[in-house]
Amino acid sequence: MGKVSLGRGNPIAIQSMTNTDSTKLLETFTQVEQLVRAGCEIIRISVPNEKALKVFLEIKPNVEVPLIADIHFDAGLALKCVEKGCAGVRINPGNIGGKESIVKIIDAAKKNKVCIRIGVNSGSLEKDLLLKYSRPTAEALAESALNWDEFFKKQDFYNFKISIKSSDIATMVNANRLVSSKTDTPLHIGLTEAGTLVSGVVRSAIGVGDLLKEGIGDTIRISLSSDPVNEVIAAKELLKALKLREGLEIISCPTCSRTEVDVINIADKLEREFSWVNIPIKVAVMGCIVNGPGEAKEADIGIAGGKDCAAVFINGEIIKKVSVDDAYTEISDYIKEKIKTKNKV
Ligand code: SF4
Repeated sequence: MGKVSLGRGNPIAIQSMTNTDSTKLLETFTQVEQLVRAGCEIIRISVPNEKALKVFLEIKPNVEVPLIADIHFDAGLALKCVEKGCAGVRINPGNIGGKESIVKIIDAAKKNKVCIRIGVNSGSLEKDLLLKYSRPTAEALAESALNWDEFFKKQDFYNFKISIKSSDIATMVNANRLVSSKTDTPLHIGLTEAGTLVSGVVRSAIGVGDLLKEGIGDTIRISLSSDPVNEVIAAKELLKALKLREGLEIISCPTCSRTEVDVINIADKLEREFSWVNIPIKVAVMGCIVNGPGEAKEADIGIAGGKDCAAVFINGEIIKKVSVDDAYTEISDYIKEKIKTKNKV
């Protein structure tokens, strides 16, 4: 998909979706840029009408990251997107207008080297499967996904991935397990309607994390009712926690009455500013000098609050003191320097 390859041992790609009005160019483009800056590797934009398609096509040549057009119900619009060269198109075969339309989209995707994401969702499961299983169970979703997997391959088309979404963790996990045991088609994994920043991250970490630990999943989205930049940060944190990615690791204390430096804001800002970093850098942000350096000995750099100052420490040893206001800059300069040195090597 554009410059991103999925499956067969390629790194697990982080994706997200814009939530602006996609008929508005400036807002949507700005958010795409924010997502890229945060480290998003695949970006999906919903294309519900011709106006949104026009905006999509204007954004596309100005972004290096592959853009996926998200289309529901309108096979004609999906065809236009594919013919005009989007990197990928997401369709739910269950709601795009029958097999004839799907074959047309597949043919156009073949011709234009466009990747298709087959979406299988609890909400758009085929009627016969709903009847057979009485509700969208893991088995029902897996059967639908495998039917489409077979159908697409029968058209001699292989440039596609499957996503099975459910808001129920066990259903999503079990459906993906079933599918991955029967096909090596790349899988996009994630919970749908996962929830807010906190609940969605917790629920996704359990569901998506379980699958990733088993080696299942080639691209992930952590869906959140939040700024999509948070989805990217959460996805990267999940991959780092599972040792599937390298990046900035922030050790920060929970703060208490001894806190002398603005730990919460400094740690938050570091997480937001440097979510895209892909070399291992461990940073500690500790509220006081009593426990700070000792508790974060293995950090590359750290700060610990002192009386009207912040002590800067490297490998647990205090090397200098700076003003509390300069604490953030001290760490961010160190990170930038480390990246610069790494890039020179
Ligand atoms: S490092 Fe200091 S400020 Fe932070 S929680 Fe521990 S004792 Fe409190």
